[in-house]
Amino acid sequence: MEVLVLGSGYAGLTVAHRLREYVNDVKITVISRNRTVYENTIFPALLTNDVNVEDTKFDAQEAMELKGNSFIEAEVQRIDPQSNEVKTSKGTFDYDYLILALGGAYEENFYKIPGNQFAFMHHPLSDFLKIKERLGQADEIDAVIGNFANSPIEGPSYQLALIVKNEIIRRKIKGRVTLITQSPRGVFGMLPLENISKQANSFFEKQGIELVKGDSIAEVRKDKVVTKNGKEIEANFVSILPRLSAPEVVAKVFSDDTYYVPVELPSFRTKSFRNVFAVGDLAQGMVPARTARGAMIAAENAVSTIIKELKGIERPYYKQGILCMFHGGGVAGLLRFDVFDKPRANFIINPLFSKIKIIYSRMLVNSAFNVPFHAAPPL
Ligand SMILES: Cc1cc2nc3c(=O)[nH]c(=O)nc-3n(C[C@H](O)[C@H](O)[C@H](O)COP(=O)(O)OP(=O)(O)OC[C@H]3O[C@@H](n4cnc5c(N)ncnc54)[C@H](O)[C@@H]3O)c2cc1C
Repeated sequence: MEVLVLGSGYAGLTVAHRLREYVNDVKITVISRNRTVYENTIFPALLTNDVNVEDTKFDAQEAMELKGNSFIEAEVQRIDPQSNEVKTSKGTFDYDYLILALGGAYEENFYKIPGNQFAFMHHPLSDFLKIKERLGQADEIDAVIGNFANSPIEGPSYQLALIVKNEIIRRKIKGRVTLITQSPRGVFGMLPLENISKQANSFFEKQGIELVKGDSIAEVRKDKVVTKNGKEIEANFVSILPRLSAPEVVAKVFSDDTYYVPVELPSFRTKSFRNVFAVGDLAQGMVPARTARGAMIAAENAVSTIIKELKGIERPYYKQGILCMFHGGGVAGLLRFDVFDKPRANFIINPLFSKIKIIYSRMLVNSAFNVPFHAAPPL
């Protein structure tokens, strides 16, 4: 029996760790383009020197081999679910179960944004390092930060806006920060709870951040941003989180017009192939926001299904919800959203959450994403 896991992010490694806890007669192979893996949710803290690059990374090959799993550092080039085969830069592999965990196509989509050469993308490490350099050198910052349309996670934009504002104040330079939110309700406006957005909007405005609600970045020019609603905002610092979709190598085989891989819930089994599961940023989720925590919960649920089929062992399924600790330089907070009998949420502002976020990030890095508890309610 062979399980092939494509991708070594939060979702892929969670599947590989958890499966190995229950089966020792199955070959588990992780294929991913880099054996060095970065814990990217902590990248905003690089900008404030609360963590170093070294603190954000680990060696996934070493972690997998310690568990008795194999790791192949290779590019996935083609997936053929009819013949149960995956072609990579290091040969072709077959499988009994396939886990698609290749994340989202942030980079592919960023380069499609008109004028992207005038903007940063607050996603990869390389851009966070460029943003840091820019913030350290600029003597005036007119920042516009936001998402491209239909982008399913705004938390990184919120954090960057707070950090840039904090840097303007700390370095006593001239500047302003405009944050564009996709929802007309503003910050966290995608949640079905208006009071949370009101509270969050007023918090951001108190920090001196200008909010442009119900809009998104459509185009960047040398000295301005053009929004989807046609607004032009002058800027000498622009950072964008692009639209998200399944990467091309997956999308062309599995995606529908939602750009994600359609799955059965809560198992995250693909709707098209019974032995293929899709977890993390590339899959349709239980909540619209695409998060690392959501990716790990999806992975737990996929493992529950496979373990039941292979061993008859019952494990719980979990709800996805949102649990987001944000680090904003001088300020920090937490957003929790779960649906029980009805939707419930809390938005709590407390600088302690930036410390807790750093501790949690250490746990993720030191365990190679093998955390036992995601604070998720069982279904
Ligand atoms: C700045 C920032 C802050 C964030 N903050 C939070 C937060 O506070 N909380 C939270 O829950 N989420 C947060 N997120 C979101 C979170 O990082 C993502 O949801 C998460 O990375 C998704 O995990 P994944 O396993 O699906 O994909 P990824 O972590 O992207 O892993 C995908 C893996 O697949 C590999 N891969 C891709 N294509 C190929 C290929 N063709 N061949 C071989 N390998 C390939 C990649 O190298 C990678 O190892 C944040 C994101 C950013 C950018």
